Amino acid sequence: MTRYLLLDDLSIDGRTVLVRSDLNVPIEEGEISDDFRIQAAIPTYERLLAGDALVRVCSHLGRPKGQDPALSLEPVARRIAEITGWEVGFDDGDQKLTVMENTRFLDGEISNDRATARRLASGADLFVQDAFGSVHRAHASTVGVAELLPSAAGPLLDSEVKALGRLLEGVERPFTLVLGGAKVSDKLGVIEHLIPKVDRMLIGGGMCFTFIYASGGEVGDSLVEEDMLGVVAGLMEGDHARKLVLPGDVVAGDRFAEDAESRVVSARSIPDGWVGLDIGPETSARFGEQITTSSSVFWNGPMGVYEWHGFRDGTEAVARAMGDVEGFTAVGGGDSVAALRDLGLAETISHVSTGGGAGLEFLEGRVLPGIAVLERWVE
Ligand code: ADP
Ligand code: MG
Repeated sequence: MTRYLLLDDLSIDGRTVLVRSDLNVPIEEGEISDDFRIQAAIPTYERLLAGDALVRVCSHLGRPKGQDPALSLEPVARRIAEITGWEVGFDDGDQKLTVMENTRFLDGEISNDRATARRLASGADLFVQDAFGSVHRAHASTVGVAELLPSAAGPLLDSEVKALGRLLEGVERPFTLVLGGAKVSDKLGVIEHLIPKVDRMLIGGGMCFTFIYASGGEVGDSLVEEDMLGVVAGLMEGDHARKLVLPGDVVAGDRFAEDAESRVVSARSIPDGWVGLDIGPETSARFGEQITTSSSVFWNGPMGVYEWHGFRDGTEAVARAMGDVEGFTAVGGGDSVAALRDLGLAETISHVSTGGGAGLEFLEGRVLPGIAVLERWVE
């Protein structure tokens, strides 16, 4: 496990502290539609301000091509001010807390260019890495600045590492992994790395159809990743095949649309032209039972197209079962967390992760560059 300094190890009094947060929130027509990540970031600023530091916050937002005003962090600065009642500066200014413009507006952010890192670090004395969702990327604002300034892990990053770390070493059993979402290819690393370690792996969402098809099922027009069939067939014949739990029934639609006609069918005989859009009621009950009888559960990826009213029951069933677990539960992934929050069930989960891809890479056991770089500041 990588070692790093914590906030309490730094003398922050009177210092300017650059904080890398994950403020990558969804913005639709200038409005922030979900401020979960902002809410999660604020306690770190509170602690720094209470220690009389000057705080400079940076983050990326979206995937801008150049300086796209639609992806400015200005609305984020405003939202922090609304939530806290503080005066919050934007881009420059001499407020106690200033939010810098989108790091991806800088040419050298993604390439981790030295001059860009220097520009981000200039005027700061210390660096606090608190953006768990970004530490799997070696960018100027995640790795470059941490090479230049004495650096520590922020409380949010540390809580993610500790919580998800519980699933890697000394995990309490039975340990169940619940995977869904659109694509197998996004989650293959975590499937391969964790299948030897878990007791069972429940597969729903769009990705289950590649498994069902690879083992001879008829999936109609459901999502199948042709280039994953070989790997998936290998998993289903491998040493851990008995741990895989696939849906027995699904809710299929007569087309891929919100207002599609729907019916419950066997997952292995979906009629031609029909598309699997959610796990079925029997599967929801079975998954629910497997979840509630576990001592540790990690869930990533909705069980169906939960954005559409008629296809969210499976995701809801899994979310409710997670809340009933008596052991340790963690949920990661932007869509899964959004679904959980929509249902008002986030409070029932032991650890709601702010990281999607980073959480998966962490659970794959990979060294995350934005965490590894912090080790150099440990005496
Ligand atoms: P997360 O953000 O939680 O990691 P993903 O991004 O991997 O989750 O997957 C979420 C997406 O998967 C959602 O947009 C959802 O509509 C889609 N999805 C789930 N089930 C299906 C399905 N049966 N067919 C197509 N897409 C699906
Ligand atoms: Mg997603």
